[in-house]
Amino acid sequence: MKELSLYIHVPFCKSKCNYCNFYSIPLTKLKKTYNSNLAELYPGFLIKEIGINTEKYHLENASINTIYFGGGTPSVMTVDFFKSLMEFIGKNFKIAADAEITAEVNPESCDLEKLYCLKALGFNRLSIGVQSFDGGVLKTAGRIHNKNDIYRTVSNAKKAGFANISLDLIIGLPGQTKEIFLDDINNITDIAPQHISAYMLSIEEGSLFYKIHNDKNHFPVNKPPEFIGEEKIADYYIILCEILNGQFYEHYEISNFAKNGYRSRHNINYWNRGKYLGLGPSASSFFKLEDGKEIRKTNIPDLERYIRNISKDNYNYEEKNCPIKKRNSIRNKNGGDFVEILTENDKINEEIFLSLRTSSGINEKRLRELAGAEIIDKLIKEGLMENFKGNISLTLKGMLLSSEIFARIMI
Ligand code: SF4
Repeated sequence: MKELSLYIHVPFCKSKCNYCNFYSIPLTKLKKTYNSNLAELYPGFLIKEIGINTEKYHLENASINTIYFGGGTPSVMTVDFFKSLMEFIGKNFKIAADAEITAEVNPESCDLEKLYCLKALGFNRLSIGVQSFDGGVLKTAGRIHNKNDIYRTVSNAKKAGFANISLDLIIGLPGQTKEIFLDDINNITDIAPQHISAYMLSIEEGSLFYKIHNDKNHFPVNKPPEFIGEEKIADYYIILCEILNGQFYEHYEISNFAKNGYRSRHNINYWNRGKYLGLGPSASSFFKLEDGKEIRKTNIPDLERYIRNISKDNYNYEEKNCPIKKRNSIRNKNGGDFVEILTENDKINEEIFLSLRTSSGINEKRLRELAGAEIIDKLIKEGLMENFKGNISLTLKGMLLSSEIFARIMI
């Protein structure tokens, strides 16, 4: 039986956050732009896409180990949305008895009733988008929830029976002074979730923050946000790691911390290069085919064009050889909708940088063979990597500089 993870992208949000460049459409814009209610029709397109991929990649007998509804904001969807998809997946695949089934929810769009329904449908893990507890920081970030919404959602989640809760935090949002950040950590550790994801803010192209960063006049209100420098963000990250370590969270990946037994199995599958099917605009999939080929497929980040593609009778992706190093430029040219056949070098590079994201790292002998002994010795000498029980992993300093390290060791 082939093991598979499923990712379902929900490309809708109540409103757009100022730091976000994920593919999502604010619901108000959706209603203004399209006549029909696309959010209601959306599960039909996802179901069609499952059918197309099942046939093309022979997924009929797959056993689903993890399912992840991410976005966007899955919690803006109705219970019927989750019900129709879970029923379809249950009828067409074998869902493992101990499958990890996660929904991302935002504090302003998830009430107790919806949480009870999710639990009844088989969801057993929630990832709640907290980001900060400070009203001013949340407002500048364009978030539309407040501290009380967070506490209410966590309490409702527990009431509904969720015993595996992850909270998302952003490190270095504008206005997040050290005091505010320490307060954010205190509030999170008081809640004591089973899992914490903490991402260092980066100003991504396509976000409002990116525009403001390059042109201060772009901010819609009088006072533009004050961005926090990289050095300070690095200090915050180290503080967070030390505090969470003291609270017995395992720092098992650059941005992820878990109590014993609560690592995200869905994400571990990504880092282990396990197979997954991603559905919806902008979602990625990874398959290992019987002929030894490995394929990474990325859906177009555009709802209308995604629907057009899915609705075609002869829907087919163009398959190309595309070295990872060129992936982004080729993706842009093609509008993001293509399948790459990984080269041997791609496979090696992926193995190296995905393993090195994790605290267990990669077998030292294998890494030296793949990347060359000289560069590894250099990175160890620079204090960016360390050797533990025959495995090489990144030090805390290395985790902060992971992108530079990956660029240096990519073959
Ligand atoms: S951060 Fe999340 S809630 Fe905010 S716009 Fe992006 S996807 Fe939507």
